[in-house]
Amino acid sequence: MTQALPSGLLDRLSDIVGPKGLITAPEDLSPYTRERRGRFEGTTPAVVRPTDTHQVAAVVRTCADAGVPMIPQGGNTGLVSGSLPDGEVIISLGRMNKVRAVDAENFAITADAGCILADIQTAATEHDRLFPLSLGAEGSCQIGGNLATNAGGTAVLRYGNMRELTLGLEVVLPDGQIWDGLRGLRKDNTGYDLKQLFIGAEGTLGIITGAVLKLFPLPKTHETGLAALTGLDEALTLFADLRRGSADALTAFELIPETLLGLAETHIDPNVRPLATRATYYALVELSAPEGQTDGQLAELLGAALERGLITDATVAQSETQRQQLWRVREASSEAQHPAGASIKNDVAVPVSRVPDLIRRVDAELSAACPGIRPTPFGHVGDGNIHYNLLQPIGADPAAFMARWDELTGIVNRIVADLGGSFSAEHGIGLIKRETLRHYRSPVEIALMRSVKQALDPRNLMNPGKVLPLSE
Ligand SMILES: Cc1cc2nc3c(=O)[nH]c(=O)nc-3n(C[C@H](O)[C@H](O)[C@H](O)COP(=O)(O)OP(=O)(O)OC[C@H]3O[C@@H](n4cnc5c(N)ncnc54)[C@H](O)[C@@H]3O)c2cc1C
Repeated sequence: MTQALPSGLLDRLSDIVGPKGLITAPEDLSPYTRERRGRFEGTTPAVVRPTDTHQVAAVVRTCADAGVPMIPQGGNTGLVSGSLPDGEVIISLGRMNKVRAVDAENFAITADAGCILADIQTAATEHDRLFPLSLGAEGSCQIGGNLATNAGGTAVLRYGNMRELTLGLEVVLPDGQIWDGLRGLRKDNTGYDLKQLFIGAEGTLGIITGAVLKLFPLPKTHETGLAALTGLDEALTLFADLRRGSADALTAFELIPETLLGLAETHIDPNVRPLATRATYYALVELSAPEGQTDGQLAELLGAALERGLITDATVAQSETQRQQLWRVREASSEAQHPAGASIKNDVAVPVSRVPDLIRRVDAELSAACPGIRPTPFGHVGDGNIHYNLLQPIGADPAAFMARWDELTGIVNRIVADLGGSFSAEHGIGLIKRETLRHYRSPVEIALMRSVKQALDPRNLMNPGKVLPLSE
């Protein structure tokens, strides 16, 4: 709910960011208060849009002095309502969107937190370097949001998630102090690794204003293929064979179920299917390397997999256009869930070796609990990360199905925990998974998290109510 702000606060904020940097008109607030999927809407008295770190610090100090809670916001593409306000002042980083420097020799880029992810990728490419984070929302999410959610995406298998891609951070603390940790060092053993506190903290410990990120040699060749899998156990063998056989040039191994490919064909593009052969699951695989290094390896490795009975058919892209068409299969399969009816979202991780057990056990229990349910496990199998989304039975009442969210997600999470996994692999905790944290993390872990929050934000002014379960 929107709280009345202390008198004069809006004027003080306007003095810091200028009139263009302050939004208060109700009709202009909705892009910041509405969650992307449209399921939830929050409230805010104001959106503040600073243009540099000193402005962020001054805004935070002003709000903190007045005891007013704040919420940092990037591209608002997060999927767990972490950036959804509940009466807080929104501090939007969108106007802090500059690449500050590219140090090609140090394979590093320094950027404002509000830089769009795709712009960072482009800046790296212009210097013959790769910034490997890649995900569906890359045209609108910001690097600060990627850091705050420890985003993963399609290339984690080879390059790691944001924790592994970060060398240094600049952060405005909840009392308005600036911590300048923008060091581009690969080795720095000088006490606690403070940047890791803020990565994945979902804006609850401070506002990330800048970052030094790792770059890599720009791959010049990609070999991309789609294989019809014999089964889930065979998928694991294929995964290991591709890693070993390519000298670890494997950069993607994405699972696509026939359930989703069929829906993509019906709802998105009738020509999306690249193989005539049908299978219950397909793997989209990609090798990447500097010029020439993978020459024809993928076709050879998939040929060997065919002979060993791991796959029943495969195709390898012969041009960049065909490569894009294969990646389109992955994107269209994701998009196809929307027109297929109500869908319960899950984003879980287990050790890679337990993925087949996970899928078999979850599918069996869900079918018993909800006959006709269409589980669509897909995504980053190479990281043990499955987007285990559940589509409503055909003809079922969407609202009645969605009302079973906790029950059906509970089945998935229980099996995930049993296999030593995580109920949130990529998307974080935010608001919607906050109470789940209480069930699946020990009291010791939660108490440690509370201690960190208390130490950095003792007045609970920075994105309150997110991540940590409410006190009992
Ligand atoms: C189509 C689509 C595909 C996606 N695919 C993936 C995927 O493959 N892998 C994956 O990991 N995620 C994926 N995501 C979710 C992903 O985490 C977010 O898209 C992205 O990382 C969030 O960035 P954002 O700028 O939109 O942050 P927001 O949504 O604005 O914020 C997310 C959280 O970060 C905090 N925050 C934002 N900026 C800052 C800052 N500067 N300092 C401190 N805290 C901040 C917010 O308070 C909030 O808690 C996907 C989302 C979509 C819509």
